[in-house]
Amino acid sequence: MQAELIFVGTELLLGDILNTNAQYLSRELAALGISVYQQTVVGDNTERLTALVKNAKERSDLLIFTGGLGPTADDLTKETVAAAFGDTLVLDEEELKKLHCYFERRGGEMPENNRKQAMVPQKGGKFINNCGTAPGVYFNEGTKTAVLMPGPPREMKAMFEESVRPMLAAQHGGAIVSTMLHVYGIGESALELQVQDLLEDANPTAALYAKEGEVAVRVTGFAETEEKAAILRDALVMKFHERLGSLIYSEEENGTLESTLVPLLKKNRMRIATAESCTGGLVSQRITSVPGASEVFDYGAVTYACSAKRRAIGVKSASLKKYTAVSSVVAAEMAFGVQKEAKADLGVSVTGYAGPGGDDEAGKPAGTVYVAVSKEHTVWVRRITVARPERSRVRRMASQLALDMARRVVLGLDIDGARKMTRHELADF
Ligand code: AMP
Ligand code: MG
Repeated sequence: MQAELIFVGTELLLGDILNTNAQYLSRELAALGISVYQQTVVGDNTERLTALVKNAKERSDLLIFTGGLGPTADDLTKETVAAAFGDTLVLDEEELKKLHCYFERRGGEMPENNRKQAMVPQKGGKFINNCGTAPGVYFNEGTKTAVLMPGPPREMKAMFEESVRPMLAAQHGGAIVSTMLHVYGIGESALELQVQDLLEDANPTAALYAKEGEVAVRVTGFAETEEKAAILRDALVMKFHERLGSLIYSEEENGTLESTLVPLLKKNRMRIATAESCTGGLVSQRITSVPGASEVFDYGAVTYACSAKRRAIGVKSASLKKYTAVSSVVAAEMAFGVQKEAKADLGVSVTGYAGPGGDDEAGKPAGTVYVAVSKEHTVWVRRITVARPERSRVRRMASQLALDMARRVVLGLDIDGARKMTRHELADF
């Protein structure tokens, strides 16, 4: 099947917003084994869109649009494509009711121009929008299909995942099964080099997605039956495991380091405690966001000031003086200190410069972070320097490292680049 993508919006042509929908959809369609031969951006203009749709329909079987489903006069994708596909739009009472409810909840009347969002194809169908007001729609004519989704990326992605992907998979004839591999500890480009040959197959396929501080790999198999598709997928998943080993931390669809760590601690009957400085509680926030966290976590301290590090978790004044609060010694003392204070099995600590300031003279610029994990009488400390040290990014990266190091300590895995010390050795500093 040949597909093409059409992005509608004058703001895209003007460079006001980045066409992130293009990247998302291209990857998703590739992962479904659907070939995308062309992408076009077009302004909010009926004539140009009509001409484009006519051409696109001649060369492609599947046309996917985003944008122009809003309530304003320049939102004209639905009307234009309906005409090109020989369909008409009719009022959908259910959608109209939803719109009225939406505006009522916000304490106002529905503006009259919103009514057009409730118009749906007579012959085609609609996709529910669970994140916004404009439903998506599809049109069919002969073997040609047009799929229209809203422009806002959050709405578009949710709709694609909930409705469009399943529909395309079904049309594709047969079964599609996929697994998401979550990878921490290697950047996207390094990962790509390491698995390049695994990304080239048409079936099963693998696609990389870079996220902040980690990478995900979607592995997908296609076949006549689900069983056969799963066999294909599993063979490729196995190859990724051989290549990446413990860098893969989860195979859950929406897996995160915290949703991996909490059950792992539970399984090993271990409790964890946190002492955080520059992350300000982000690590404990992430741990406690997982259901069942109370079985593995009961103490998290935000020790921002030196005095708090001393008083709450027993960091030594001498260490703070000699090494400063941003140092491996203090990180290690924080981990041991909170482990003891909470009577936990593991102590996790984070201390660093979230920016914009750092300590350049000491060779510790903004983005310098020390993370330590202690267990019994051993502590592992790692230093990272986050590039582009914007505060929220530094905190996010630091929390990623802290959660992954904890995972590695529980599993007894090596921690690359970590300094390992015993309580005794630390006391000698
Ligand atoms: P629209 O549905 O055309 O009214 O678009 C509403 C908003 O969605 C725009 O103002 C953008 O912020 C966003 N948007 C639309 N198209 C795209 C796209 N291709 N990529 C990223 N964002 C988009
Ligand atoms: Mg628009």
